[in-house]
Amino acid sequence: MTKTIAVCNQKGGVGKTTTAVNIGAYLAKDGKKILLIDLDSQGNATLSSGVDRARLSKTIYDVMVEGLSAEEAVIPSGIERLDILPSSLDLAGAEVRLSQVPGREAVLRSVCEPLKLRYDAVLIDCPPSLGLLTVNALVAADRVLIPVQCEYLALEGLSALLQSIELVRHSLNPELSVGGIILTMVDARSNLTKEVSDEVRKFFKELVFSTTVPRNVRLAESPSFGKPICAYDPHSTGALAYQLLAKELQEKVLESDATVKAEPVAASTEKGA
Ligand code: ATP
Ligand code: MG
Repeated sequence: MTKTIAVCNQKGGVGKTTTAVNIGAYLAKDGKKILLIDLDSQGNATLSSGVDRARLSKTIYDVMVEGLSAEEAVIPSGIERLDILPSSLDLAGAEVRLSQVPGREAVLRSVCEPLKLRYDAVLIDCPPSLGLLTVNALVAADRVLIPVQCEYLALEGLSALLQSIELVRHSLNPELSVGGIILTMVDARSNLTKEVSDEVRKFFKELVFSTTVPRNVRLAESPSFGKPICAYDPHSTGALAYQLLAKELQEKVLESDATVKAEPVAASTEKGA
């Protein structure tokens, strides 16, 4: 059954968009039909997938707030089998508009239901907040992927995210669970990376993907060319990492019905790592 995966962490700049775009691109290259929903008004996933902002006409804002049919807003990316439901700056005003709508937390879920029939997986790139848009992503999703940047205070805020996931699971979406934690911007030579990844693995155990994403300048460059890494530099270390991650996601999440429960993050870890 088609799964919807929300890539989520309210901390900014941890690699959510890079992860959503590149996993999406590699799954598509592997023959899967993928929809990437850009749920961030920054529009980074839209731009990183080769969509020209100036030529965007309909976006996720029109679909969620104005009631436009999603089919009219979905566009192809530069990668075969990878479609985008794009966003633009309009979306910044969506939370206020949505807050007045009955069933405001489940608007995206209704949008996704018919779309799921046409795709093998739906990925949602979440904004860096735990606001109504992210709640909509959690209500629409089956699994949450959490990128964690290997830096000081990496676990800061994760307990708030896990609490939001639990809240949504208990109230609106009993199917929801954490699909995995992805360690990003890993510097293999740094002691800090080792300390942080040890700490994250200690708490999240088998939820942590064995593939990690190295800090790689080619990954940082590729969005400015409007290309996922598989099209920009397929031989870079970043490309190899996302290719392996897509495979791991496929095995652990997309083809598996198993759920692993995330333990609450202890207060000491919040301060420590
Ligand atoms: P936001 O919270 O603003 O949406 P985000 O969590 O989506 O941010 P990204 O936009 O994916 O994070 O990444 C933040 C920045 O770091 C971007 O400039 C991106 O190109 C760069 N970046 C992401 N992953 C890597 C990596 N592994 N190596 C080097 N640079 C990276
Ligand atoms: Mg982003």
